[in-house]
Amino acid sequence: MATTTSPVSHPTSGSRAEARADVYARPSAHVDEDGTLDVRASAVGTCRRALWYAATGHQPTNPPTDAALTVMEAGNALEPVVLRAMARAGWTLTPADPSVPQPASIRIDPHVVVTGHPDATGRRPLPQDAASPVTATPASMFLFDDEPPATDDEMIVEVKTRGPSAFKRWRTLGAERSHPTAVAQVAVYTLGTFGAVRDAAIAVLDTASRAWDVEIIPAPRVAQALDRVGAWLGQLGAHYDRHGADPQALPTRDFAAGSWQCRSCPFLATCQPGAATEATADAVTEVEDAPVSAAEAQAAVAEYAEARDALKVPERDKRAALATLKAWMRRQGAAKTTIAGHTVSLVQSTRYAVDHRKLNAILDPAIRAEIVSERASEFVRVS
Ligand code: SF4
Repeated sequence: MATTTSPVSHPTSGSRAEARADVYARPSAHVDEDGTLDVRASAVGTCRRALWYAATGHQPTNPPTDAALTVMEAGNALEPVVLRAMARAGWTLTPADPSVPQPASIRIDPHVVVTGHPDATGRRPLPQDAASPVTATPASMFLFDDEPPATDDEMIVEVKTRGPSAFKRWRTLGAERSHPTAVAQVAVYTLGTFGAVRDAAIAVLDTASRAWDVEIIPAPRVAQALDRVGAWLGQLGAHYDRHGADPQALPTRDFAAGSWQCRSCPFLATCQPGAATEATADAVTEVEDAPVSAAEAQAAVAEYAEARDALKVPERDKRAALATLKAWMRRQGAAKTTIAGHTVSLVQSTRYAVDHRKLNAILDPAIRAEIVSERASEFVRVS
């Protein structure tokens, strides 16, 4: 493994373990009493300038809204639900003790550590358990289906909750492309907890359908993630070595103005003082330039609904007529015929489906990125 990261041991007794409230209210980065820059594992891969603001005592100017806090708390509340679902599917799990969560830390350089609190550790259901009634869930539901033979090593289990589109994106693109920070997080937890690189698991729940899935990140990919964490935070460590905890010696920005990361950054107004005003001005300009008024939009919705309703009966009649013709053609054994001056064809088509879960499991993320590309489009839906 090329990374220079190393585990940091923590006492397991409750005497030094932090209370849950303190643990999860930690800033994304802070400077310890001994001068060590301690970065929260879940903040790895965010913006290093934002970490600097947090560590050097800047006060947040754009704290999370009540709605954002509710989303976050709902996600936290669902974690035990996901772990119970995994247990029913045959996983042997040890969830973190909510009152005394055990930290996992790795050292990046002499003055920088990363610390977090894993959701759980666990062992995946092994094939020999398949006969057990507890593991009656088909093994095919797991992403590790086609991976090398599973071992019984205990691994880190990280739980995430996502909306339907993020869940689908995760399944389609795999963890490294869709949620690289989550991979970094489990990599840190793995080395910090076991002192070695192992496979790690990220379980994801779709908050709309309540479907869940788990992606196993094999040990070599965990090692690659640790290398990335080491390189990314190594630069911040070098900055810290040069400047100490100087609140004015800001590292360069990791994100461009207007990005979603900046829009949701707690230090937005400090970092980009004009951003809020510009955003408001942009919005006003957009509305002023818009050639469609609210009344026209309302009228368009009404017209759309009327047209859709008008099409309902003809569409139903069309489907019924086609079903009759399909039955007729099959009975005749004909692929093409002429009826009442119209050519009627029985068209056969084959659809090809890609099992993205299996694809994600067997392909390296870089190769996967060449094969599975992402294209965004825009359309209007009225319901
Ligand atoms: S506003 Fe953007 S660039 Fe500035 S600290 Fe926040 S995330 Fe980084």
